[in-house]
Amino acid sequence: MTVETAATKPLSISNIRDSIASGARSSSSFAEACFCQIDARDAQIHAYLSINRERALEQAMSMDGLAKKGEVLPVLAGVPIGIKDVLMVEGLQATAGSRILEGYRAPYTATAVKKLEAAGAIILGKLNCDEFAMGSSNENSAYGPVRNPHALDRVPGGSSGGSAAAVAAGMAVATLGTDTGGSIRQPASFCGVVGILPTYGRVSRYGLIAFASSLDRIGPFTANVRDAATVLGVIAGHDPLDATSSSQLVPDYTAEMDKGVAGLRLGVPSEYFAEGLDPKVRAAVERSIDQLRAAGAVIKPISLPHTHYAIPTYYIIATAEASANLARFDGVRYGFRAKDSDTLSAMYRRSRDGGFGPEVKRRIMLGTYALSAGYYDAYYKKAQQVRRLLAEDFLKAFAEVDAILTPTAPTPAFRLGEKADDPVSMYLADIYTVTASLAGICGLSVPCGKSREGLPIGLQILGKHFDEAMVLRVAQAVETLQQ
Ligand code: GLN
Repeated sequence: MTVETAATKPLSISNIRDSIASGARSSSSFAEACFCQIDARDAQIHAYLSINRERALEQAMSMDGLAKKGEVLPVLAGVPIGIKDVLMVEGLQATAGSRILEGYRAPYTATAVKKLEAAGAIILGKLNCDEFAMGSSNENSAYGPVRNPHALDRVPGGSSGGSAAAVAAGMAVATLGTDTGGSIRQPASFCGVVGILPTYGRVSRYGLIAFASSLDRIGPFTANVRDAATVLGVIAGHDPLDATSSSQLVPDYTAEMDKGVAGLRLGVPSEYFAEGLDPKVRAAVERSIDQLRAAGAVIKPISLPHTHYAIPTYYIIATAEASANLARFDGVRYGFRAKDSDTLSAMYRRSRDGGFGPEVKRRIMLGTYALSAGYYDAYYKKAQQVRRLLAEDFLKAFAEVDAILTPTAPTPAFRLGEKADDPVSMYLADIYTVTASLAGICGLSVPCGKSREGLPIGLQILGKHFDEAMVLRVAQAVETLQQ
């Protein structure tokens, strides 16, 4: 569902901007529509950890002021946007879904959010997520899980579950999430929205609470492909405050997206259609591939032979980097501090023990082990070598095809609690997404159908480094062919 006008036409970003510019509707009325939806639905869904009505309405009024003066409105004028709670927005809380950051307020604003604000967006509030973005179901949030708007007994996916659910329930027109091993694409697939994983380096991470620095990326969620392209165009680009951000020019991502797929070579990797793929997901993905073929794409079977190693490789690299990044949460500098400790080291220990949840502790322990003397070569170094092989699989494939098509996740949204006691089965929910994360390439998830119970299914489209325009073009075709 999207925020709807009286005529029930779903709102797109350009509709919002045009109706504010023409005076047909005020910017404040769009923000209010989202707040109404939050009031109506979020007690059940729990996508927001904090909302920011006053600041949002102030921002909206300033957009209305510009419109009244007849000035040219910026590209996201009046667009109500929610932000995953791992990103800093000055003055607002930033918990990363963790007790250890309870009460912490951001002293500055992340570059991606600053760019949204400079483009006229209205920031509604901060969105629930798995603690430090570690998880695939949102059940690891210290503040309680998010529920899937399509079926309240199901998870929305994770870790950016709040970001996906908010768009799916019309509680924001767009949101930002982060993806380290699948946390944008998998919840987008579970909630029936579009979610982009930009190329590593495409979007500045200044102001992101780091999980695994060689993998973390920021990207948008929206209800349709064009809006996703628009938001990506705003947040992408070089940032002197992030040394890992690329200085490659940002193209107009909407310019080429309607060109269709005729003549494009699209690869379908056999490894992604093997055991463990739910038949409902397979059917929806194959139907989409058939539609693309009928629209003139050349569908080519390909192989990504090291895929099998991706999950263990990811869970070594991600946990190793997490153990280093999370060392800063010591009870001294941010958020939660255990009371009444006799010594400094007891205070550290008790703050970390009380502040971190079980999954975060598991990852710190796994990661510390993988990096420790005597084990580094066997685990971390080996994982880096396999990572190279996985990246080379993609490079070879992209010599033959323009983009790659796979399911986003092996199943539709599962039930709350279904995998909560089995970390390995939870880790397998990322089986189709971690490869692109390790390779640094771009991709997205676009809805491609529903299961018989009405649960959304996502198609993952992967592209070469910095070839977001191609991925968006294919996604636009998938979206159009379904209508
Ligand atoms: N589910 C994966 C994990 O738990 C991915 C998380 C993410 O992309 N932030 O690590």
